[in-house]
Order: sequence, then C-alpha cells, then structure tokens
Amino acid sequence: MQLSAHFFLAEFTISSKALSMGVENTPTPEHMVNLRSLAEQMELVRALFDRPIEITSGYRNPVVNAAVGGVPNSDHALGHAADFHVDGFHDLDAARRIRDSELKFDQLIYEKNRCVHVSFHPRMRRQILRQPGGPGSPIHTGLEP
Ligand SMILES: [Zn+2]
Repeated sequence: MQLSAHFFLAEFTISSKALSMGVENTPTPEHMVNLRSLAEQMELVRALFDRPIEITSGYRNPVVNAAVGGVPNSDHALGHAADFHVDGFHDLDAARRIRDSELKFDQLIYEKNRCVHVSFHPRMRRQILRQPGGPGSPIHTGLEP
C-alpha cells in the first residue's frame, strides 16, 4: 500500500522482531492515520536531500513494541516516528541538514552508528538530540558535544 509519493506502508512496518515472533505488525486504524501523516512528513525530509531514504524502523504495534521492551507511548508505537538513513549521506550530516532546515518536527535524534530518528508527534517541540552510546544509553541535547 502506497502512503505517499515515495513511501509504502511496508517500509514502516517491516520488523525483524515481528517476523521472528511470527506476529504481523499491523497498524491499528488510529495508528494508520498517523502513519499516513508520517509518510507525508518524510516526503519533506526526502525533499531536503533529493535522495532516497531508507527507513530502518518505523511502526511497532502494541504487541511488537512490548516485545522489544519499548515504552507504550513511544513515538514508534504511535506511528509518529521513523529511523532512517539518507542515501549517500553520513547520518550525522543528514541530521545536521535537517536541524539547519525550516522543517518542523517533534524530535530529531542522531543515534550514533545506528540511524537518524525523527518524530512528528503533534507536540512539534523541535528537540535536537544525540545518543552517542547506543540503544538505551543517555541522550544529550544538540547534535555535537
Ligand atoms: Zn527511533
């Protein structure tokens, strides 16, 4: 199912954890609305680079989210967040370009050696953060020390 000009639902719902558990990572109707909005926002991210975006993690439905130990109100569990790489860009350079743009978002996190995380929860705080130590490690303000 196509969500926007360049993004398909499957890009946001493929989950190795879900596959290994044998559960379908199917969005609830409410989360489906959020995922359509997320895809439109990711079109704006894509337009900043005019390069393909590789989504590495998007939606986690309640079952999958619990299995990965995610907090229930995680933006990924609501369909508001995507982890990604931009074709041809180092993650930090991609995060810098988003930071320096006019793009509205809730959180931008440079997850070192992992991905760029962006969320579009309607709070839209435009928080800019980095997580240099890997999953579960402390999160700091700003992209650079
Ligand atoms: Zn993320």
